[in-house]
Amino acid sequence: MNFKYVIVGAGLAGLTVAERIANVLGEKVLIIEKRNHIGGNIYDSYNEEGILIHNYGPHIFHTNDKGVYDYLSKFTKWNDFWHRVLTYVDGNLIPMPITVETINKLYNLNLDCSEVEEYLKKQAVDIKEIKTSKDVALSKVGKDIYEKIFETYTKKQWGIDPSELDTSVISRIPIRLNRDTRYFNDKYQGMPTHGYTKMCERMAANKNIKIMLNTDYKEVIGDINYDTLIYTGATDEFYDYKHGKLSYRSVNFVFETHDKEQYQEAPVVNYPNDYDYTRITEYKQLTGQQNGKTTIGKEFPCAEGEPYYPFPTKECKAQFALYEEEAKKETKVVFIGRLAEYRYYNMDAVVRRALDAFDTLYQGK
Ligand code: FAD
Ligand code: UDP
Repeated sequence: MNFKYVIVGAGLAGLTVAERIANVLGEKVLIIEKRNHIGGNIYDSYNEEGILIHNYGPHIFHTNDKGVYDYLSKFTKWNDFWHRVLTYVDGNLIPMPITVETINKLYNLNLDCSEVEEYLKKQAVDIKEIKTSKDVALSKVGKDIYEKIFETYTKKQWGIDPSELDTSVISRIPIRLNRDTRYFNDKYQGMPTHGYTKMCERMAANKNIKIMLNTDYKEVIGDINYDTLIYTGATDEFYDYKHGKLSYRSVNFVFETHDKEQYQEAPVVNYPNDYDYTRITEYKQLTGQQNGKTTIGKEFPCAEGEPYYPFPTKECKAQFALYEEEAKKETKVVFIGRLAEYRYYNMDAVVRRALDAFDTLYQGK
């Protein structure tokens, strides 16, 4: 079989590059995908009650990158969802991320914005060199809030102490000295009106894009002649684990359908200190779907299973660097995406990476 372009993986990274090759270059491209569907981890589907759920965990699109927003908007419209999260601490549901409302509710106070700034300054631990996620939290909010909101959640989520995690993990959570309780700051937010799978189907709707599902690329790649392989699978697997297996954190998503309109007070409720799960998502609150019943998803983090979260530790980064060195030497293979680059990419960042890689490779930009 001859294909100038072959892509491994039909996730957001693979589909973006495929779409560009098919529509901009007008060339044929083959995508090889080991799962039985396209979309990678953003895949969503209707359950037996007809409720749209995210099979691989809750996905909320948010970005400040207008180019990415405009690009994806060619394949979907968006609802006007603004994500909100509550966290269950000391028997109360309080807003996440940390805002003026959070501090007031947590400590039964009535401070204004500048008083909260003062309050947090007093709590903050003076750390000379911020090296870990624990340092990030302690230096911004102090010991008590760290223990109530971050410490146990992070231990549950990652299976290790925040002092062993790179600064990037807890830095994802903004600290706001105002009353804005939206989870994300970004200018563009929303959920695809008809879901992520429909959006992905539209990206792939070009007769130049051929998709081979249910196929590990290693089963067939020896029979295909190609000029370029765009690889969005795991890089350690590509190199037959020659530098050892990279670690990932996995999550077991457990779905429950309840015979009531609404289950909880917010689309997502976090449970930092209670239960074995980290959070519960109520899908209808994300999508705006109407149904007499409601489906929730509980997230139980675990060591084994689908490779969801690359481990942001020093050791894991050093191990991945060995694979990166190998990857740099490849002349016909390009590595893109969450697995291939072993990076905690959000959807918008993966699309940006894929669009830029396409421009560099084929548009001379
Ligand atoms: P993937 O979606 O993992 O796609 C890679 C594809 O390659 C998969 O389909 C896989 O089956 C296939 N593949 C792998 N190996 C092989 C092989 N050997 N042969 C053939 N095919 C192979 N981002 C946000 O912006 N907002 C969110 O709210 C958000 N929530 C998230 C929640 C969770 C629990 C997780 C895990 C991620 C979340 N993300 C979120 C991130 C988002 O999922 C990723 O940015 C995005 O899906 C990455 O796309 P990708 O194509 O790089 O990887
Ligand atoms: N986090 C926390 N408490 C919370 C929410 C998040 O300690 O209530 C930490 C935790 O370490 C998590 C990180 O902040 O992994 C990033 O949170 P985010 O909600 O962005 O996680 P994701 O949606 O990527 O799983």
